[in-house]
Amino acid sequence: MTTPSGEPGGVTEAEWSAAVEAVRGLAPGPDGDEIQLVCHVNPDGDALGSMLGFALGMRRLGFTRVRATFPGEFELPVPYQNLPGLDLLVPQDEAYARPAIVLIFDVAAVSRLGDLRRLLAAPCVIVLDHHASNTRFGGVHLVDPRAAATSMMVDGLLGRLGVPLDAQIAECLYVALATDTGSFKFELTTPAVHELAARLVATGIRPGDISRRIFDTRPFGAMKLAGEVLGRACLDPTAAGGRGMVWTYATLADLDRFDQRPYVLDALIDPVRSVAEADVAVLVKQAAENEWGVSLRSKGAVDVSKVAVALGGGGHRLAAGFTGYGTPGEVVAQVRALLDQSLTFST
Ligand code: AMP
Ligand code: MN
Ligand code: MN
Repeated sequence: MTTPSGEPGGVTEAEWSAAVEAVRGLAPGPDGDEIQLVCHVNPDGDALGSMLGFALGMRRLGFTRVRATFPGEFELPVPYQNLPGLDLLVPQDEAYARPAIVLIFDVAAVSRLGDLRRLLAAPCVIVLDHHASNTRFGGVHLVDPRAAATSMMVDGLLGRLGVPLDAQIAECLYVALATDTGSFKFELTTPAVHELAARLVATGIRPGDISRRIFDTRPFGAMKLAGEVLGRACLDPTAAGGRGMVWTYATLADLDRFDQRPYVLDALIDPVRSVAEADVAVLVKQAAENEWGVSLRSKGAVDVSKVAVALGGGGHRLAAGFTGYGTPGEVVAQVRALLDQSLTFST
C-alpha cells in the first residue's frame, strides 16, 4: 500500500505499523481500554470529520470506550451539527482522565490543544495530520504534508486496521476532504484525493446534499454581515513586493449586530482571496478585547505559513493562520512586515 498521497515524503511503513500495532494492542468491549480522540480548537470540517470518522471506525472494531473532544467552548458550527458519530463527542471536561491511547487529528502544534495538552502524558499518543508545520509532538506521527486533508491519513489507518468504509464513516471523511480541498479546488487535489472521494461516494452518501449543507447554507444575518465585512476591505497593491495584499476585519460588535456566531466569519476569507489584484488575503476576526484570529491565504508568490509561524501560528504554504494582538491595523502591519521575507519566487 502506498501512502495516502501516493508520493514520497509521506509516512513510513514503520510508522503505519506502529500505529496499527498500538490500536490492535488495545482491549475492546465495555471493560476495555479507554480511547481518547482530540482535534484542534475551533474545529473545522477536517478536524471534526477526521476525528468522528475514526471514532466510528473504532466502534466498528468493537471498541466501546471511545470519546472524542476538542479544546475550548463546546460549540459546533451549525453545518457540522448533523455529522454522524456526534454521540461520541463530549465537552473537554468529560475527556478521559487517563486514557490508554490518545489519537490527535489535524493539530499542527501543541498550542492548538489548549487545556487538553495534558493528554500528551498518555502512554501512547498518535498524531494524524497534514500540516508541513507539524512539530511532531506525539509518539507516533502519521503526518503527510502532501495529503490534502487529515481525513486521508484516517483513511490510511482505517484501511490498515481492516475497517471497511460505510456510509456514516464516509460522510465524516467526505466533509473533511471537501472542506480542506475547498470543494476539490485547491492545489493538493491529487488523483489520490479523487480516488478517496470516489470510494466515499460509492458508499451511497449524497455529495450534493452534504455540500449544500456545509458550504451553501447560511442565515440571512450572516449574509448581511458578509456585506459589511467585505465592504470595508482594503487593497494594498505595494505589499508583498508588489504582488499585493487585500485585507479586512470583523469585530465581536459586528457579530452582535447581526446576531451571528463567530464561525460564520470563517467562510469570508474565500471572497477576500478571490481579489485579482492581490496575491495575499488577510481576514482578521476578533476573538476577545485585544485578540484576533487571523486567516492568511496566498495565490502562490508568498508562503503564508512562514508568516503565520513567525507570528506564533501555523498552517500550509497557501493557507495559514495565527492569533494576533492589538488593533486590526496593527495585526495587519505585522503581517505586511513579514510578507517580503516570505516571497517564494517560485511562481
Ligand atoms: P483558517 O484560516 O482558520 O482556515 O486556517 C488555515 C490554516 O492555518 C489551517 O490549516 C489551520 O490549521 C492553520 N491555523 C489557523 N490558525 C492557526 C493558529 N492560531 N495556530 C496554528 N495554525 C493555525
Ligand atoms: Mn483544520
Ligand atoms: Mn486539515
